[in-house]
Amino acid sequence: MTFENTLQYAQQLDQQDPLKNFRNKFHFPKVNGKKVIYFTGNSLGLQPKNAKKYVDEVMTDWAELAVEGHFQAEKAWWDYHERFSEKLAPIVGAMPSEITVMNTLTVNLHLLMVSFYRPTKECYKIIMEEKAFPSDQYMIASQVRFHGLDPKEVIVEVKKREGEHHFRTEDILAKIREVGEECALVLMGGVNYYNGQVLDMQTITKIGKEAGAYVGWDLAHAAGNVELKLHEWDVDFAAWCSYKYMNSGPGNASGCFVHEQYHDQKDIPRFEGWWGHNKERRFLMEPEFQPEPSANAWQISNAPILALAPYLASLEYFEEVGMPALIEKRNKIVAYLEYILQEVEEEVGGNFEVITPQERGTQLSVFLHGQGKELFHYLMKNGVITDWREPNVIRLAPAPFYCSFENMYEFGQVLKGYFSESQ
Ligand SMILES: *Cc1c(COP(=O)(O)O)cnc(C)c1O
Repeated sequence: MTFENTLQYAQQLDQQDPLKNFRNKFHFPKVNGKKVIYFTGNSLGLQPKNAKKYVDEVMTDWAELAVEGHFQAEKAWWDYHERFSEKLAPIVGAMPSEITVMNTLTVNLHLLMVSFYRPTKECYKIIMEEKAFPSDQYMIASQVRFHGLDPKEVIVEVKKREGEHHFRTEDILAKIREVGEECALVLMGGVNYYNGQVLDMQTITKIGKEAGAYVGWDLAHAAGNVELKLHEWDVDFAAWCSYKYMNSGPGNASGCFVHEQYHDQKDIPRFEGWWGHNKERRFLMEPEFQPEPSANAWQISNAPILALAPYLASLEYFEEVGMPALIEKRNKIVAYLEYILQEVEEEVGGNFEVITPQERGTQLSVFLHGQGKELFHYLMKNGVITDWREPNVIRLAPAPFYCSFENMYEFGQVLKGYFSESQ
């Protein structure tokens, strides 16, 4: 595709964009009275304008119905969480029964490890990527210690090659084969938070399972961003947060996937609570736990309805647009952003490097040779919100729901301004 670095051309791309009207369905922060150019939808998605309505609905039901709201509210609370399964299924490529929404991401990964990390004397190792998101590192190490084992002996990290910024699939597969029968679990980030790389989840899952391990994915940066086929790939379990590409609001609930082959496995270890109990008999308060025949068996407590409301609102947009259209725009806008970065580099000799490989979703990570944090602050002052990751990386994620091609052009102008001024 050949692009042009002009305002007119960018505006033309916007005009042709089938998703162009969605930009007006989100609230934008403003700098100098102008909507910001928002590159941090990979960290906290913007607020969908329908979110408030969904929250207000719950507030009104609570005011007018009080406890009766559990059953009498139009969106009744007692099975409110079940509304997510149908809507999330096409986003992550699962059957509705394989999905549940609860807690937050790290908590859910802990709960899923209770079921899927069961070390024995012979089979106890965990394969993950080096420099995974810190919460994942803490989570896995603490699980290992909980089993009385030493993280140094259990956790095997796949590393990037010297001088490279991405993981090679062949290195990941080789590591799984090398650990072989000792491998109890492969648990990685499907899309790396730092370099934006999309791992070959299908192949890694297949090889992990051939080695006899369980395979789980942290999909924090993948859900709502890249194509997923969790059921078909035979993934054992996965979890994601919803406040990044899924625009559900700060700290909001996490989605979980548990493959259907485990739904009627009676002896699977699990931390249980009343919300996972047979739905029809939940309020009979019987002493014996009867699991729901679905991922809902992993539910523990009654659901935080006020938090879930904006997540449900956001999924309305996903339902309207669908992942294929989002991915199509994503590919185009990310390619345009990459082109703009190259243009700026050629024109003003900016000293930076895109470290995201071609296997990518919405995010481009830009490694700065030299300029450091001043660029980040300069962008912020000029209405461009990016984020900064040590040691020297700025991450740019033009979320296809609400970023425009004109934004990419404008960003290029701001960037050019910076490099011209600083030379
Ligand atoms: C954002 C993110 C988290 C955050 O976890 P919470 O428990 O929701 O705070 C965890 N892991 C990865 C890979 C992430 O990108």
